[in-house]
Amino acid sequence: MTTAQVLNPATEQVVATVELVGVAETDAAIERAQRAALTWREVAPGDRARLLRRFAEAVDADLERLAQLEVSNSGHTIGNARWEAGNVRDVLHYAAGMPERLLGHQIPVAGGVNITFHEPLGVVGVIVPWNFPMPIAAWGFAPALAAGNTVVLKPAELTPLTAIRLGELALEAGLPEHVFQVLPGKGSVVGQRFVTHPAVRKVVFTGSTEVGTQIMAGCAQQVKRVTLELGGKSANIVFADADLARAAATAPYGVFDNAGQDCCARSRILVQRSVFDKFLELLEPAVRGVRVGDPTQESTEMGPLISAAHRDRVAAYIEPSTKVAFTGARPDGPGFWYPPTVVLPDAPTDRVLTEEVFGPVVAVLPFEDEADAIRIANDTEYGLSGSIWTNDVGRALRVSRAVEAGNLSVNSHSSVRYWTPFGGFKQSGLGRELGPDAALAFTETKNVFIATQ
Ligand code: NAP
Ligand code: MG
Repeated sequence: MTTAQVLNPATEQVVATVELVGVAETDAAIERAQRAALTWREVAPGDRARLLRRFAEAVDADLERLAQLEVSNSGHTIGNARWEAGNVRDVLHYAAGMPERLLGHQIPVAGGVNITFHEPLGVVGVIVPWNFPMPIAAWGFAPALAAGNTVVLKPAELTPLTAIRLGELALEAGLPEHVFQVLPGKGSVVGQRFVTHPAVRKVVFTGSTEVGTQIMAGCAQQVKRVTLELGGKSANIVFADADLARAAATAPYGVFDNAGQDCCARSRILVQRSVFDKFLELLEPAVRGVRVGDPTQESTEMGPLISAAHRDRVAAYIEPSTKVAFTGARPDGPGFWYPPTVVLPDAPTDRVLTEEVFGPVVAVLPFEDEADAIRIANDTEYGLSGSIWTNDVGRALRVSRAVEAGNLSVNSHSSVRYWTPFGGFKQSGLGRELGPDAALAFTETKNVFIATQ
């Protein structure tokens, strides 16, 4: 069996060695999941709900350990990591309300009764990236389990530790064996097998648009269901009438949270020209004030990037000709650090404006009026999230409706609540996660007519 060393990105020290699963073990796990699906779907809705609640409670009891594990594996700040573990608990509790609420319809028909059922799909494969290992895993597995499916989950090679722990907690909480299996391994091996194995009936993928399009094409061979959560290049639109001080003070956290390794990062700040200079003046101290450093410290706001390779990829966006307005801090010594960086692009075609950097780099550019702001915001293949800063409620609503993105916030940078739907327009994805309909995405609607005469 091959193994992989897991590094702490803040120290570059090895924190664990993990055994990687190959094709044969993946096939065996999928077959176990397929058998387990036959009994899991028959578990009474109330009992499935109870088991998910116990799983949530087990996560809650383990919250500090999960958070510490994420800090050492992913370099997330301890504050963020606690939120992430708490999010898994909350997503599980919310999903526990779903089995008893998968309501069908009774549709009036002549000569009989017509009813619909939401049938589970069978085995669901969840492929998770390294940027939010815990929440993204739970957004897939919790509603899939609630709807009566079994789950095989592949964490990212760089960040398998919390997923492995969640797999243990599920068993400790009493979920039957093989209902939820975690398979650390390579995307090209384990993830690819989820796509090609006919017993896997749906793939939930979060990651790059490049791999997401390959997965969609692969799934097409079997007309396999797929949910995709891909990249973003979201706009933070600041109108002249906004509370500029608040807009500037919060903008760094809308893009540099998780060191910018967030598909919802507001990596383009569009500022109305009349207040452009004023906004930059206010933004500079806010960016310099972001506390970058040891992620185990409670006061730290930004940690390192995930790997040396990723840091190099991010750094390559800052070319010698790039106009850097100002940067924030970064610690010296070991660790994959990159400072918060604010750039002023020259042209709409600059890579830093068109590509997802996935690091702490933000481009600030001016716009003229509302129509111009909407045009620039939509001038991207992505459409995941965005923010609109204005005190004009009509404008807030007009612009919210006009921006082609799945998750917008007005006078705020929040994107994710487990009880509201999340997902992308255009090449940011396909389908929605979270929210009241989350479990339905893991079912097929079956229509049954019963003749009464
Ligand atoms: P990625 O390659 O898309 O990886 C995401 C997940 O897919 C990982 O678990 C990966 O496994 C797996 N995978 C890779 N190739 C696969 C394949 N052929 N079939 C099935 N699964 C496969 O992302 P990345 O290379 O880590 O990051 C590259 C860029 O993608 C980032 O810089 C960022 O721009 C974007 N990204 C976006 C998000 C997001 O939340 N939208 C998340 C991560 C990355 P391995 O770990 O073994 O590679
Ligand atoms: Mg990759």
